[in-house]
Amino acid sequence: MRVGFIGLGIMGSAMAMNLYKRGFLYAVYNRTRSKAAPFESLNVKVAENPKELAELSDVVITMVTDGPDTEQVLFGKNGVSESAKKGLTVIDMGTNSPAFARSFAERLEKLGMDFLDAPVTGGDVGARQGTLTIMVGGKKEVFERVRPVFEAMGKLIVYAGPVGYGQRMKLVNQVAVALSDIAMVEAMMMAEKLGLDMEKVYQVLSTGGARSFSIENYMPRLLKGDLEPGFRISHLRKDLWYALEEAKSEGVPLPATSMAFELFLSSENLGYGEKGIQALIKLYERISGVELK
Ligand code: NAP
Repeated sequence: MRVGFIGLGIMGSAMAMNLYKRGFLYAVYNRTRSKAAPFESLNVKVAENPKELAELSDVVITMVTDGPDTEQVLFGKNGVSESAKKGLTVIDMGTNSPAFARSFAERLEKLGMDFLDAPVTGGDVGARQGTLTIMVGGKKEVFERVRPVFEAMGKLIVYAGPVGYGQRMKLVNQVAVALSDIAMVEAMMMAEKLGLDMEKVYQVLSTGGARSFSIENYMPRLLKGDLEPGFRISHLRKDLWYALEEAKSEGVPLPATSMAFELFLSSENLGYGEKGIQALIKLYERISGVELK
């Protein structure tokens, strides 16, 4: 199976590297070509556009920002669909709405291509270590055919159901991610105001009943003053919008997620959209009137 990879951002570059190490990666495409340089030096083909990448590949993976961006690389000028390559399998591993997934599947199937939605969780750390959790929606037989490709990037591979169900599972996950990030930041600001030793707060939160991925991975970054993205605030705001949209369409009340959306949107408006989700602390510093030492 020759795999072509589109989108060499924080996640995509690490995932593509794991595919390379397992002998699957044949070609890459990135809008900003310079990010493909590390792959070029490994003799991986660098395609001029998504159409050319699709022509070189049996399986195309997309890992770009959101629904409209994925639509552009699939169906825009020189997009994957223009390759008209019957039998091609297209896998979208970015986080998009289930409605986008259904629309992509329908349009690609008309061209004789298969589609899976296969978003991931586990952050930049999981992407580098090849320990992502991957949630897959689409036809079971297509999933089984490309399972080894998923196994090169992830540890737990879950078949979630028909097309769109990978994204549904991911949005459920994002609700929990957002709320646990807020829990970490809110607890830290309380501790700061109450004059507690933050290293000891970290010891307690990371070993007791409050443990979470946010506390284990993002709190140490905050304690070093590191706001750089593993996972961007603008991306989480996008995920929460998709989650609210999906929940509303099914009549599911998500009161805390609605508040979470407003908090991350506010952080973005304060200029922290391209920082990591731990940078939510900056909004809390503004409303608490203290800065994390
Ligand atoms: P990122 O670092 O911002 O990278 C985004 C990538 O998408 C870049 O390669 C960018 O190309 C490309 N791109 C964006 N719009 C494009 C367009 N219109 N046409 C062509 N390429 C385009 O993002 P990331 O953190 O890797 O996240 C990628 C996806 O994974 C998102 O859906 C995100 O929600 C999801 N995700 C992220 C994490 C995480 O922890 N970071 C975890 C799970 C899932 P350029 O280089 O040219 O800008």
